[in-house]
Amino acid sequence: MGRIDIAEGDITTQKVDAIVNAANSSLLGGGGVDGAIHRAAGPELLAACRELRASTLPEGLPPGDAVATPGFKLKAKWVVHTVGPNRRAGQTDPAVLRRCFANSLAVARGLRARSIAFPAIGAGVYGWDVTEVAAIAMDVALGHIAERDTLDRIRFVTFGAEATRAFEEALGQRR
Ligand code: ADP
Repeated sequence: MGRIDIAEGDITTQKVDAIVNAANSSLLGGGGVDGAIHRAAGPELLAACRELRASTLPEGLPPGDAVATPGFKLKAKWVVHTVGPNRRAGQTDPAVLRRCFANSLAVARGLRARSIAFPAIGAGVYGWDVTEVAAIAMDVALGHIAERDTLDRIRFVTFGAEATRAFEEALGQRR
C-alpha cells in the first residue's frame, strides 16, 4: 500500500517511467490533460499517435483500451494513452473506466515500467464524478499491487484540491 501515492500538480513534470494520458479515441490530441501532455512532449508525440492510427488503430482507440508511445521530451520514458468513457455522451458504464486503469497498468507492466502516474481519467470533460473515479482507480491499483508485484510506485496526480481530497479519501478508506 505504501507504493501508492497522491501528488497534487501537473502530470507532465512527473519523474516516473510512464505517465497515463486521458486521451480521446482519435488519439490526435484534445484539451485538458491530453493537450498538456502533447505540449510538453513535443510534436513527435502527435506523429507517433498518427502512426498508430495509420498502422494498428485505423479506427482509433476504443474506450477502456490502452496503448503506449514514447514520452519524447517528457521526463517519463513512456506515455500510456487510454480513453475514458464519455459520460456526457451516454457512456455511463463504470466497468469501462475500470478497464482504463487496469489496461494502463498492464501496458506499463509489458514495458517493464517500475513507476506510473495517472490523472483522474474521466473526471474532466468526460463528466465523471471525481469521487467515483478515485474509488475505481484505487481499487484497481490496490488489486494490481496485491496480485502482480511489478510496480514500485503508482501515483495519482490530482489537479486541484477537490480531486486531491477525493483520492486521499479513497486511499484512506482502504487503509
Ligand atoms: P477526460 O476527458 O478523461 O475527462 P480531462 O483531461 O478533461 O479528461 O480531465 C481529466 C482530469 O485531468 C481532470 O481531473 C483534470 O482536472 C485533470 N487535468 C487537467 N490537466 C492536468 C494536468 N496537466 N496534470 C494532471 N491532471 C490534469
